[in-house]
Amino acid sequence: MDEQGARSVLVTGANRGIGRAIAERFVAAGDKVATIYRSGDLPDGVLGVVGDVRDTASIDAAFTQIEAEHGPVEVVVANAGVTRDQLLMRMSDEDFDTVLDTNLAGAFRVARRASKGMIRLRRGRIVLISSVVAMYGGPGQVNYSASKAGLIGIARSITRELGGRGITANVVAPGFIDTAMTQALPEKQQQAYLAAIPAGRFGAVDDVAAAVQFLASDAAAYISGAVVPVDGGLGMGH
Ligand code: NDP
Repeated sequence: MDEQGARSVLVTGANRGIGRAIAERFVAAGDKVATIYRSGDLPDGVLGVVGDVRDTASIDAAFTQIEAEHGPVEVVVANAGVTRDQLLMRMSDEDFDTVLDTNLAGAFRVARRASKGMIRLRRGRIVLISSVVAMYGGPGQVNYSASKAGLIGIARSITRELGGRGITANVVAPGFIDTAMTQALPEKQQQAYLAAIPAGRFGAVDDVAAAVQFLASDAAAYISGAVVPVDGGLGMGH
C-alpha cells in the first residue's frame, strides 16, 4: 500500500468537526477521499455521497458509488457519531438506542461493507473513532460510553478475523477535542475537563487526524487491535 497518495479512503461524517479534519489530511496527502454524509458542505476534493450510517441499504449504495469512482475502499474511518446525554434514571430507550445505533452499529455496518473489498485486495485499514469516555466513563453518558467501548471489541475481533489478510483495525480514542460536540457541554463541565488534562489545553481536530493518518499508513502495518489515545493525557492509566 502506498503510504501517501492515490488510495481510496472513506471517512464517514466529513462535513464537520473531526471527520472533516481527517478527510482534509488524506486529501492533502494525495489520496482519493470520499465521505458518507447527511448534510452540510464538504472540504475541497472530497467525493460526497449522501447517506446515513443507521441504514444498511444507504451504506451499501454509497460504497457502490464510491467504488465506481475511486476503486475499492482501502482505508475506512468510522467517524460519524452522536451524543444524547442524560442521567441514567432519566435516559429514554430512544436516547440509548439512537446512540448505539449510530456510533456502534453504524461503525459495524461501515466496517462490514468495507471488509468485502479489503479481503479481495488483501490489504486494508479500518480506524474506528471512539472516545476517552469509553474507558473513563462520563456522567450522563451511559449510552455514549457503551457505544464507544463497544468499538474496541469490534476492532479486536476484526483483528483476529482479518489480521492475516493484511488488514488492520484500530481504535482512536480522542479526549476533549474542540468541536461542536464539546462546545455544547456546560461551561462548568468544560472547565472541569480542562483542569484534568495534563497537556493544559483542549485538543484540536488535527491532533486526532494525525493519529488516524498514521494508523492508515504503511508504517503502522504491525499495529492492530490497539486503542490509541489522543487526549493530552486525560485518560492515562486506562
Ligand atoms: P460533530 O458533532 O461535530 O460531528 C459528528 C459527525 O457525525 C457529523 O458529520 C454528523 O453529520 C455525523 N453523523 C452523525 N450521525 C450520523 C449518521 N446517522 N449518519 C451519517 N453521519 C452522521 O462531532 P465531532 O467531530 O466532535 O465527533 C466526531 C467523532 O469523534 C464522533 O464519533 C465523536 O463521538 C468522536 N469524539 C469526539 C470528541 C470531541 O471531543 N469532540 C471526543 C471523543 C470522541 P451531521 O452534520 O449531518 O449531523
